[in-house]
Amino acid sequence: MAFRLANINERAALVEGDSWYDLERASGRALGPDSMAAIAAHAALHDVAAGLKDLEPDGSVAEVSFGPPVPSPRNCLAIGLNYQTHADEAGLELPTVPLVFTKFPSCITGPDSDVELRTETGDYEVELVVVIGQGGRDIPADQAWDHVAGLTCGQDVSDRRLQFAAKPPQFALGKSRDTYGPIGPVVVSVDQFADPTQIDLGCTINGEQRQADNTRNMIFSVADLIAYLSSIMTLAPGDIIFSGTPEGVGGPKKIYLQPGDVIVSTIEGIGTMTNTCV
Ligand code: ZN
Repeated sequence: MAFRLANINERAALVEGDSWYDLERASGRALGPDSMAAIAAHAALHDVAAGLKDLEPDGSVAEVSFGPPVPSPRNCLAIGLNYQTHADEAGLELPTVPLVFTKFPSCITGPDSDVELRTETGDYEVELVVVIGQGGRDIPADQAWDHVAGLTCGQDVSDRRLQFAAKPPQFALGKSRDTYGPIGPVVVSVDQFADPTQIDLGCTINGEQRQADNTRNMIFSVADLIAYLSSIMTLAPGDIIFSGTPEGVGGPKKIYLQPGDVIVSTIEGIGTMTNTCV
């Protein structure tokens, strides 16, 4: 049975329909409240999810605010220029190996949290975020999906000026301002998707559609990225990978985020994040 893992009241929870269930309670205390431990125990979450139908929920999802479902990843990796259309709009050459940078985990925030703009050059990037469930080194691409606990939505909020301030550019800081990494609302297990390599994703700003694409158009697939990254570093449960954004970001048109802007990011089968810029 598929699961939808959330972070509610700073405790791991499972979501089913409009209801949520505290994981420690729903698992009969077999699992604890720690979200990172829950991801490492992802195999057991399937069984707990299957038993939810026999339990009273803890409440309705409409009544609670969600925290980031992966609140403290050890590593938060991100991929640049992974859709041809986005590389074209940025006027940048297509990478021949994955262009990898870090979003420092301190930038991670919740799916409905405010984005605290610090400069005039903030920009949005909706992305599919891969949550590693089983670590490993030298993971072959054809086994990569077995290492994924689930998928979630992410906003790779970027300070464009800071991103390109140093020569040669080092993306990490421009991608890592506090609150520049909303993720959520839930981590959805891979078995929930008819085809996890073909998922619609999109983003609106103040209701205007800015991004709309499908993950089938990635240059380096999720499996390729896991194989590549694990050939360099050992991946661990709870590591997350922002897998790149499609075209439609504001930077190339010099349209940047303003205080009051509402970023709505949606991924098919996962849900919607609503982040207000302040
Ligand atoms: Zn990005």
